[in-house]
Amino acid sequence: MLTALNEKNELVSLFQFNSRDQLTKIHANSSFICSSCKAPVILKIGRIKIPHFAHHAKKNCSSASEGETDNHLNGKKSLYSWLHSLGLNPELEKVYEEIGRRADIGVKSGNLEYAIEYQCSAIAPYIKSERTKDYRSLNIIPFWILSYETLQLSESRIVKLTEFHQQFLRYSEALKQYFLLLYSSEMTTFMIIYLIAPLSKYSFIVRLERLPQECVPFPHIPVKFSSLDAELFSSYLIHREKWIINRYKYNVGIKDQFLRMLYEGKETILLNPPWNGLPMRSNLNFTTYACEWQTYLYLYMKKGGIMTEKKLIIYMEKLIKQGVIALRRNQADTSCRFVAESVNEWLEMMEACHIVIKIGDQYSLNPDHIVFKIDCVENRNKVVEHFMNNYMHKIIELYNAR
Ligand SMILES: [Zn+2]
Repeated sequence: MLTALNEKNELVSLFQFNSRDQLTKIHANSSFICSSCKAPVILKIGRIKIPHFAHHAKKNCSSASEGETDNHLNGKKSLYSWLHSLGLNPELEKVYEEIGRRADIGVKSGNLEYAIEYQCSAIAPYIKSERTKDYRSLNIIPFWILSYETLQLSESRIVKLTEFHQQFLRYSEALKQYFLLLYSSEMTTFMIIYLIAPLSKYSFIVRLERLPQECVPFPHIPVKFSSLDAELFSSYLIHREKWIINRYKYNVGIKDQFLRMLYEGKETILLNPPWNGLPMRSNLNFTTYACEWQTYLYLYMKKGGIMTEKKLIIYMEKLIKQGVIALRRNQADTSCRFVAESVNEWLEMMEACHIVIKIGDQYSLNPDHIVFKIDCVENRNKVVEHFMNNYMHKIIELYNAR
């Protein structure tokens, strides 16, 4: 903690002190209690960690976060300075007695009050949702900022986001895109990670944007429209190919639902046409890989002939209910919308690539698509290349227009 109450019941913030001498002096002359549970706390002025207050023993203080890292302490400090520089009146470690919570920072902007939580360590989803619920009960908006230091960036364009990270994903309704807001206390910089395409349940092709904190307003973080381009498209294709090869190599035969459905549809994984598994915005709606869910729609149409959009939506909902396709955001109230949006985008994409033809409100596979039919594995790369050369620009254009 960076704040505590002194014997006069005044809130002391370690911010006020610039030198070690000052700190040593108050350490010798004052005693402090926790502003939340009122238990005595000690001022620790060590050589390694930044100065902070800590409870004497492992206290049962609901708002204490013992073992706070330097990253967390520094982050609170620099986020506080950031809000202050914007002309706001932030309160460090603000205590909300009614709910027994202490936010890293409490701040009002206009008529709204925010509880800023700088999250540096993994927390379980139920803890996050309990905290969120408590704040909401006081009409306070929880504003979660994830520490950049919690991320592991393997390649610059590919990021692994665990369940923990994914709880903090935000969705911009206006731009129809997922993003993650991060902050680095070391660089005093905000980062926005825009999710372009999922490669698996946990890894994503992303775009990373750095925003020095002095350029960032509060509470409206400047989210930009983030687009797909030829470079990201190529990375996407490389991973799609890897996925196919792995699925082929490590296949478990008919126990694998996807391979079985391909087989029943007279396709095999290596001969699966290149338009199954294109980069689409809807891919982010599912944890099931794009190649899989798109193939299911394709096979269904191949088998069923002429059909309406509605029929495809019903089919997809059935697959979700059966657990064949998994939604990323498992919310019953919004899942219908996600499914309809996904089917709609898929039809639009297939039509643009001349795979599907539309007559009135009916769709069917274009019988002429046979020109792209992969008849043997040797032929495969040629067909994929031919298809991508012809349609890459169209695919990118449609992705960005959504
Ligand atoms: Zn306490």
